[in-house]
Amino acid sequence: MFNKILIANRGEIAVRIIRACQEMGIGTVAVYSEADAAALHTRLADEAVLIGPPTASDSYLRADRIIEAARQTGCEAIHPGYGFLAENADFASAVAEAELVFIGPSAEVIRLMGSKTAAREVMQAVGVPVVPGYHGEESRGLPARSARRGERRGRGDQEWMAAVEAMGFPLLVKAVAGGGGKGMRLVRTAAELPDASQSARREALHAFGDEQIYLEKYLSSPRHIEFQILGDAHGNVVHLFERECSVQRRHQKIIEETPSPLLAGDESLRQRMGQAAVAAARAVNYVNAGTVEFLVDAEYNFYFLEMNTRLQVEHPITELVTGLDLVKWQLRVAAGEALPFEQASLSQRGHALECRIYAEDAAHNFLPATGQVLYLVEPVGPGIRVDSGLVPGDDVTPHYDPLLAKLIVLGEHRQENIRKMMAALRQYVILGVTSNISFLRDLLAHDAFQRGDLNTDLVEQYFNNWQPKRASSPDLALIVAALAELREEPRAREQRSAVMAGDDPYNPWRQLSNFRVGEADQK
Ligand code: ADP
Repeated sequence: MFNKILIANRGEIAVRIIRACQEMGIGTVAVYSEADAAALHTRLADEAVLIGPPTASDSYLRADRIIEAARQTGCEAIHPGYGFLAENADFASAVAEAELVFIGPSAEVIRLMGSKTAAREVMQAVGVPVVPGYHGEESRGLPARSARRGERRGRGDQEWMAAVEAMGFPLLVKAVAGGGGKGMRLVRTAAELPDASQSARREALHAFGDEQIYLEKYLSSPRHIEFQILGDAHGNVVHLFERECSVQRRHQKIIEETPSPLLAGDESLRQRMGQAAVAAARAVNYVNAGTVEFLVDAEYNFYFLEMNTRLQVEHPITELVTGLDLVKWQLRVAAGEALPFEQASLSQRGHALECRIYAEDAAHNFLPATGQVLYLVEPVGPGIRVDSGLVPGDDVTPHYDPLLAKLIVLGEHRQENIRKMMAALRQYVILGVTSNISFLRDLLAHDAFQRGDLNTDLVEQYFNNWQPKRASSPDLALIVAALAELREEPRAREQRSAVMAGDDPYNPWRQLSNFRVGEADQK
């Protein structure tokens, strides 16, 4: 096993990885931007290296500095977390060239799966169904002018048009290098196609440095169900069951759960999807943790969507129902260990649910929110896990992803567990930054969610004009609480922050500050 690794990330995921290392006796080196000098991940790691200011050319993307920091501190491996450099094939190969271990799959696999069209071709070749679509010989897209004015078109254009007609509308224009919903455009009529493909190309070029796009049939209100896979360097591959991530806003996940309410009632579908996920991983000799994403239509047909070659944000729910620590297995597999379990010995126990706590304004089109965290109470209790990188006093800035933390609960059954989540959300207090906590509560309470009748349009369908219920405490109480916090001696505040940041649930100081602000009457 490694003696020391560098964690090339920030926030909750950096903290999560550092904690796994601590439990395994592995030394940790954090990297941080100036804005994160006092951040939890910077403080928790054994060592921390400053890699630059929080500017647009983001510190956490500085591959050269990060590799240099790993060498200088005597690390043997780099864990990229998710986002930033996690799916950057050039980074993975630079790490290998520096004779360090990249904790993830090979650069070759990252590159291959980083192209949605290449990934689709691999899957088709091994018989995994993909969403119907069209790549063309070259996926440059339909030129806006020729299509709009009916000018003479080239062969490529005619091919596109024929494919479009065969597929019918609506369809999706997607970026070949896509991720995070960027470069994706819904097209409802032929007339919309030229502009949509032009703007998707522009966005893709800006976000990924690659303007290639392709077309996919737009499935109507599908479910998003993905499978966690784990492979080692000895040819073993298993799946760790599914995660249903159908509850999304703007095609980005908000709530994830396992077992999926759909598959809970259809073991044969679960088995077929699990086998397809393993076949997908085997097709590329996948090593380390990865995720095979599928869409499932109303007729229970499933289609490969994409493969994520990294740890996912929603990995904790898989950990809670399988009892396996995915980060530890990533480290063991990267160090050359063989997986000691076979598919048949794995099972799911109970029901796990995750809510993503975002700094965003659900009442205003989910616009990211910023501000200083003045007051923070994270929920505690049996079966409640909070993966967070947040401490009171932190500034939430526009430089980074608005994900603040993840609240994860484990229960015996879905209904019981939803109630556990609602109770945990009631305990959660974040003052100073607008968060989606009350939106999540309304979402969980909705009939469709309660029934498990999920699809990727659920939020749009039922929560388009969502407004928070009026806070039950008068605004005055909130203002007084915030002022009290602000007026405290800076040192006292720091000490209290430090005390409250600990995860000892019996800490009396923690209880002291556990007065309810806001939503007491909604119990
Ligand atoms: P990205 O990699 O940019 O996140 P994905 O391909 O993973 O994009 O898709 C993200 C989400 O977009 C899916 O979970 C689903 O909600 C929606 N989506 C993607 N492709 C389709 C499709 N062909 N039909 C319907 N919805 C889709």
